[in-house]
Amino acid sequence: MRIAKDVLSKTTAEALGGDAIRLVEYLKGKENISEFKIANDIKEEIHKVRNILYRLNNQHLSTYLRKKDRQKGWYISYWTLNEKRFKEVFAQLQEKRLEQLKDKLKKEQEYREGLYICPNLCTRMNFEHAMELSFTCPECGRILNPQDNTKTIEHLKSMIEEIEMSA
Ligand SMILES: [Zn+2]
Repeated sequence: MRIAKDVLSKTTAEALGGDAIRLVEYLKGKENISEFKIANDIKEEIHKVRNILYRLNNQHLSTYLRKKDRQKGWYISYWTLNEKRFKEVFAQLQEKRLEQLKDKLKKEQEYREGLYICPNLCTRMNFEHAMELSFTCPECGRILNPQDNTKTIEHLKSMIEEIEMSA
């Protein structure tokens, strides 16, 4: 099964940075493309292309061959994406994201008794803690306001569900 385009671009953005997306999308489905052809086709300078290829290779997201150019006498590298590895990295990133979201959700749910927040956004805390501080922000001294986090909780739950359903 071929890798979906959004899996490819999301993984690239997170693992390598947004500047690598164009190159990765260009290489998708191709095999053994020379570094110079890549640079030419995506209209990018060769040193920039090499930098991205180096980052790809570091994470085993690509494979390459080196061949000596008979006429010029130097080595040229030929590149292929490791699409299987992209899927693995994507799954790892999703797993990490899921953990972070679940952590966040747990924290939000601990505020069920009431969440208090500084109008300057210095701090947020539960009811007990806010009471200890007489509902005053320890950073700026303003009065803490109660906040309803039901929507935040619902939002986190739907994001978690979305990831779990796509896994
Ligand atoms: Zn404050």
